[in-house]
Amino acid sequence: SKAQLQNQLQQQPPRRHSSFTPQDHAQYSAQQQQQQQQGLHTKRRSSLDMDRSSSSSNHFVGGVLSSSDSCGNGSSGRQFKKQPFRFYVVVDFEATCQENSSPDYEHEIIEFPLVLLKVDSRRQQVSVVDQLRIFVRPTVNEKLTDFCTKLTGVTQEDVDSGVLLSEALTQVHTWLFHHGLVTIDDMGQFMPQHYKHYDQMRCALDKLPFAFITDGPYDFYSFLHRECERKSIQKPIYYSRWVNIRKTFHDTYRTKAFSLLSMLNHLKMSFKGKHHSGLDDSINIAHIAVRIIED
Ligand code: AMP
Ligand code: MG
Ligand code: MG
Repeated sequence: SKAQLQNQLQQQPPRRHSSFTPQDHAQYSAQQQQQQQQGLHTKRRSSLDMDRSSSSSNHFVGGVLSSSDSCGNGSSGRQFKKQPFRFYVVVDFEATCQENSSPDYEHEIIEFPLVLLKVDSRRQQVSVVDQLRIFVRPTVNEKLTDFCTKLTGVTQEDVDSGVLLSEALTQVHTWLFHHGLVTIDDMGQFMPQHYKHYDQMRCALDKLPFAFITDGPYDFYSFLHRECERKSIQKPIYYSRWVNIRKTFHDTYRTKAFSLLSMLNHLKMSFKGKHHSGLDDSINIAHIAVRIIED
């Protein structure tokens, strides 16, 4: 209910620099509820699942709509497709950039935002339960271009007081631990070299109750993976499991999604906050994910 959601959100500590407040979440969810009551969208349930077969390498997987794992809920005849994960973590990186930069421009992550979605299978609902925003200090192009600050809203002061990418990964791990998404506080236990065989790693990964969600394949491949490779930064194995919401969107609505705005547009939802602000982008992606699961 709205009161429960509000209660839940108010228990969360305030986050820095968010133009999207817990009150906005509550308002958003109330709007959605009203729309449902007015019959603006009907309820069908779908599931965000991983598409292992379409992975381009062992490390990167995209998401598709699952048609398996469904369990009927009896009298109403409606189906609730069981989600393969109890949690989803939406990430939308912002990175250093230049106007009309060449393809070999070395983007560095400057904003690492996370939005946590919790799936409640019993109540058949999914909701935003927490968010985190970490500013990351670039080391190759330390000075942000005006273009970059204008585009992302991230300022030179934000990154100057930010942490290095390796430290950001540690902070994210602590946050995941705090939410019970990983049971071991020590991030080293999740590094690829901790596992002798690929199967062991796969097994450890399969035990985790969450997957990331990103808008397209760029965030985890073009930004995170490439920067970690260039800087020899080790990243935990859970970054190899992510759902590409554009692909899931296409599989659900049978319409091509070229951008975050076009997905929102198709769903008759408006962008909340500042587009290209990593946290606001993540929150809007989270709202699309909620709709996909509920539709
Ligand atoms: P987005 O998630 O769409 O906000 O974009 C992520 C990152 O991609 C940004 O932080 C920029 O580094 C880069 N980017 C996005 N749009 C542009 C653009 N029009 N020109 C240059 N870089 C861009
Ligand atoms: Mg993005
Ligand atoms: Mg963005």
